[in-house]
Amino acid sequence: MKLIIAVFIATILLPDVKGSRSLVFPAETSTSYVEMTPAKPLSLSAFTLCLRFATELTGEREVILFAYRTQYYDELNVWREIDGRLSFYLSGEGVFFKVPDLGPLENHLCFAWDSMTGQAMLYVNGKSSATKIYKKGHRVQSGGRVILGQDPDKYFGEFDAKQSFVGQIFEVNMWDYVLSPNIIQDLVAGKSVPQPTVLDWGTVMLNPTGNVVVL
Ligand code: CA
Ligand code: CA
Repeated sequence: MKLIIAVFIATILLPDVKGSRSLVFPAETSTSYVEMTPAKPLSLSAFTLCLRFATELTGEREVILFAYRTQYYDELNVWREIDGRLSFYLSGEGVFFKVPDLGPLENHLCFAWDSMTGQAMLYVNGKSSATKIYKKGHRVQSGGRVILGQDPDKYFGEFDAKQSFVGQIFEVNMWDYVLSPNIIQDLVAGKSVPQPTVLDWGTVMLNPTGNVVVL
């Protein structure tokens, strides 16, 4: 009975244990990554992809923030570029966003894209970028793998340590539609938002390989 009560109390005190998970990549490697298993295939005509991260890597190299790789393409890869811009690539040329220096502390990012209009946007800590028009009519294809920590250049591997992620990354969530600015504000503030439809950090299976610590 005591055990049951203890479990009950722990459940009340820790309602969001899975949602508070966090990944730490302590060192630059070409071998460490975490695979995420999506709730549905990434056959997408729109998305919003959000994450929190902190890195002490300076602007001297590219940093991969998210990678979704199919057989022949980087279907959806998110980067901090060597010049500090943030970008994403849908199997080919990317779309780039100038941002203020993000610094070494935690930042919250959301990337949103819609095929119908080609609208591409970035929110940094809830503040929106200029809207870009990018890959109107394109579709993200299913059949790939989602990883954090490395940029694959083939299916599945050819990682480059000089592009790897070093630091902490968490709350990686993805919806198969464009979230409204109001919902993104709520997300940044930690309020409740619609459950992510593609990748839900609260429930998604995280499969770490190499030197990654799951906190
Ligand atoms: Ca690469
Ligand atoms: Ca690549």
